[in-house]
Amino acid sequence: MIEILNPAELARAREAGALVADILQAMKSRSTVGTSLLEIDQWTKSMINEAGAQSCYVDYAPSFGRGPFGYYICTGVNDAVLHGRPHDYTLADGDLLTLDLAVAKNGIAADSAISFIVGSSQDPESAALIDATERALSAGIAAARPGARIGDISHAIGSVLDKAGYPVNTQFGGHGIGSTMHQDPHVRNAGRPGRGFKLRPGLLLALEPWVMADTAELVTDTDGWTLKSATGCRTAHSEHTIAITSSGAEILTLPTAGAGVSA
Ligand code: MG
Ligand code: MG
Repeated sequence: MIEILNPAELARAREAGALVADILQAMKSRSTVGTSLLEIDQWTKSMINEAGAQSCYVDYAPSFGRGPFGYYICTGVNDAVLHGRPHDYTLADGDLLTLDLAVAKNGIAADSAISFIVGSSQDPESAALIDATERALSAGIAAARPGARIGDISHAIGSVLDKAGYPVNTQFGGHGIGSTMHQDPHVRNAGRPGRGFKLRPGLLLALEPWVMADTAELVTDTDGWTLKSATGCRTAHSEHTIAITSSGAEILTLPTAGAGVSA
């Protein structure tokens, strides 16, 4: 099913999007050397509850995971790229951390992910991975406008990743979002332009390019959830929820001014 949101629903989507973005910024600022992934999860839980919102993750039990996820945020360190299940790990200087969060407020969900380097060491290869996913996300958003097709977004994302020299895995990608977190249409991170569902105002999409430095192959961690690069190489992931408007796309998961500063 593909949902088209009305203006009242869009207003609620903006609220959910701002909340997701602000929580991610707060968690980024708290992700310092010595912080545990389980602490990040508990802080996220508190912020979701304080906002009167609902976690899209804690009870989530899709076919590709083992039982309910059980946590409030995805935390992927270094080779962990998707569905990173928080565990008893303490962040070290130079770790590449991905935080992925989806939350529903007043019945509408928003979904966003960020990758960044923890601490003060700035490994150029990690920075390049993150930069590629952010540029691919920007290109995907730029291709999202009424009348364009899903394939135009896929092509824009895939072209950036390809040019950056990273193999692209198309098992997991972006998706429609609205009253539930994962909906049609699927948005592959590579594809042919001019194909697929035609975009129209009121459609909400979560676009999410992700890469692994030297492989397209994923392996599932023994936790039954966390997807890692098969070679152990580093990975990155960037995601925004956008709304198709009459003239282009509005990013719903941008942090509000000052978010994270007081965290
Ligand atoms: Mg996500
Ligand atoms: Mg998503």
